[in-house]
Amino acid sequence: MAIDLAFDRQHIWHPYTSLKNPLPVYPVVRAEGCRLYLEDGRSLIDGTSSWWSAVHGYNHPALNTAVTTQLTNMSHVMFGGIVHQPAVDLAKLLLSMVPEGLNKVFFADSGSIAVEVALKMALQYWLSQGVQTKSRILSLSKAYHGDTFAAMSVCDPDDGMHALFKSQLTPHLFAPAPQSRFDGEWLQEDGQKLRQLFEQHHQELAAMIVEPVLQGAGGMRMYHPDYLKQCRALCDEFKVLLICDEIATGFGRTGKLFACDHAGISPDILCLGKALSGGYITLAATLCNDLVAEGIQGALMHGPTYMANPLACSVAVASLGLIQQNQWQQQVRLIEQQLKTELAPARLLPQVADVRVLGAVGVVEMTGNVDVALCQRLFVESEVWVRPFGKLLYLMPPFIISSQELTELTQAILKVCQQPILTTEVPLPGA
Ligand code: PMP
Repeated sequence: MAIDLAFDRQHIWHPYTSLKNPLPVYPVVRAEGCRLYLEDGRSLIDGTSSWWSAVHGYNHPALNTAVTTQLTNMSHVMFGGIVHQPAVDLAKLLLSMVPEGLNKVFFADSGSIAVEVALKMALQYWLSQGVQTKSRILSLSKAYHGDTFAAMSVCDPDDGMHALFKSQLTPHLFAPAPQSRFDGEWLQEDGQKLRQLFEQHHQELAAMIVEPVLQGAGGMRMYHPDYLKQCRALCDEFKVLLICDEIATGFGRTGKLFACDHAGISPDILCLGKALSGGYITLAATLCNDLVAEGIQGALMHGPTYMANPLACSVAVASLGLIQQNQWQQQVRLIEQQLKTELAPARLLPQVADVRVLGAVGVVEMTGNVDVALCQRLFVESEVWVRPFGKLLYLMPPFIISSQELTELTQAILKVCQQPILTTEVPLPGA
């Protein structure tokens, strides 16, 4: 039976869309490797990894086995007062992989919740120290950290996707987005501006939160690792906790296992998600170091119903097992080289403002906002799956993509960015 598109259009909300005037959706019936199979029989090469998550591709035998094996034992059991092997295995694996010093894990059920927990840890830490004044968070312009209310409050309040709610959100502090490009010169001014904010506000700051090296849904901006070093140094100097949100960047996407590794730093609190469970089931985690864990008095009052879901933990163990085989390093390096070479011609096009590549992420920034529905139609006609947002056409394919498949994606981008795709309409965001 065909998927009931009319029902869907009438009754089901899709991410970041209006029910009154929804964007078209494409019925997918199956996914395998790097391909999504449409109901009409066509297959599309996936350039999104389902929003950063499916790094090993779809329908992966090892990940399937992990889920089905766990399913026959138990699919879920509450985590309050109970522990199970998949959670312990996953925590051990995570602690062996993350930057030094992080050694406690809180399992959350989505990236936004991992950010909520991180903020709660930081605030409770200072309350536990008897410091009532440290109750604000320093974030960055162009930041994006999720869609729940505390997470929204640390997203760019003016230019971000949650700007509508600005007056309803806790007013935190925002540093200018770093201007030093990842592959460019380090601009002293970036560090100076940050220092000024720390000097003026440290007494009220509980934590600083950053997406290390790559600001994702706020504009796919790739900034200099020295900025991250400055964040760490200033947080230490002024006694402010550092939260790194690696929900998008974690597990190899930027060419290092964690984006923090580009700067050789370790945060006090780390948020992980997306690729953690290889794109199979929602799972996230908030990790912290001893300073935070030992500094928090009393219970951390958070405990989602599906906390440490055994199916999710099992598939995450299998996914991290694949990451530990280390093929991702070579895969991401090759993807990066190919993206750099094949997207470069876009720089010469009049509608293109910038082209940038970091690890397995390739971005073509247009001079104006793009018509998402039109772009998607053009991409599907080229038999690829790319989901633009704002001014950006971008690729973050599964690490297992073949060189031929990647060429089809880059050629589709080059083709589409020469079409009349710019619009004056308000852009639709994307994660
Ligand atoms: N932080 C970052 C950096 C993200 O990219 C995302 C997901 N778009 C989130 C937080 C929120 O994660 P989730 O969508 O799983 O709630």
